[in-house]
Amino acid sequence: MIRLNDFERQWREIGADAHTAFERVGASGWYILGRELDLFEGALAGWWGLPFACGVASGLDAIEIALRATGLAPGGAVLTTPLSAFATSLAVVRAGGRPVFVDVDASGLLDLELCEAALRTRRDIRHLLPVHLYGHAMDLDGLDQLARRHGLTVVEDCAQAIGARWHERPVGSAGRAAATSFYPTKNLGALGDAGAVLTADPAVAETARVLRHYGQAATYEHRELGLNSRLDEMHAALLRSALLPRLAGWTARRRAIAERYRAGLAHPAIGVPPVPAGSRSVWHLFPVLLDAARRDDLRAHLRARGIDSGVHYPKLIPHQEAWRRAGAAPAVVGSLANAERFAAGEVSLPIHPYLADDEVDAVIAACNEWRPAP
Ligand SMILES: *Cc1c(COP(=O)(O)O)cnc(C)c1O
Repeated sequence: MIRLNDFERQWREIGADAHTAFERVGASGWYILGRELDLFEGALAGWWGLPFACGVASGLDAIEIALRATGLAPGGAVLTTPLSAFATSLAVVRAGGRPVFVDVDASGLLDLELCEAALRTRRDIRHLLPVHLYGHAMDLDGLDQLARRHGLTVVEDCAQAIGARWHERPVGSAGRAAATSFYPTKNLGALGDAGAVLTADPAVAETARVLRHYGQAATYEHRELGLNSRLDEMHAALLRSALLPRLAGWTARRRAIAERYRAGLAHPAIGVPPVPAGSRSVWHLFPVLLDAARRDDLRAHLRARGIDSGVHYPKLIPHQEAWRRAGAAPAVVGSLANAERFAAGEVSLPIHPYLADDEVDAVIAACNEWRPAP
């Protein structure tokens, strides 16, 4: 079976280092907010090229904390994408804001020209929450210009794009803050839930640290109505000692697999969306695009050959049941036609770093030999 992720193979590589890290934390007798978290935050910030990292309990919390720490006002409108993990918009609501959706471009990422148009009609929007989807970097200069023209605060969702660059600039460097996730399937995936907020702004970093720890500015002094969202010492040690040192190698392997797919896939009914101009992508996923009516046929054909596939994402965020149940109709500016095309026709091919070349070739052959039902 060729799977979307292969945690057994990963464990065979990282297991010994993970045991050493766990032994170190266990023997230290200190499990929350200690030296391991400090060391990991320093290592992550250095690796990323941003001054401050703040470890939290999940990617969802990282986005919520980043929005709150950058001053999202109660009821504040946040311009964002309909094509992402639901967590992106859920974080907006949990931070007290309201998402406003505009369409994506041909790569599946928030369309900055449509954002510009939406911002001219919706003067109340003060926050922008772009997502570097599929591991692609959005146009960071474009984000800067949009922010400057409209006085926006940008928070970047980097959950799928750790290490991605737009030309030389790392994702996360256009916004006041960035959020990422260490959910097991992510490019830097832990053995459970974890996430981080990154920022160049010392005040944002300080507020994020306060928010993750019940809003405590000092012991029993609560400055904010915070969360319990601390990244524990076990995970900090695992991330720093067993996982982060391997991320560059894993990313290189993902890039090599993406190149192999892009050179080998040659079926007229399987479209490969363009890589955004300037993006040095980290290929969290490898999306292809089909006519909606043919998606299930391709996925069944791959399954019959022992190949797993995914869909990211089958239902747009504003169309989820949760909004109706909460009595909050989400705001949409313009049509979501491109996002609908992805929701109806996207298929994600396996691209984890433990895939061997012959497995990638087997996926390519299965795709190219597919005979869609007429
Ligand atoms: C995974 C993901 C999240 C949520 O991260 P969790 O750690 O699962 O809470 C948010 N945004 C995007 C784009 C993601 O892929």
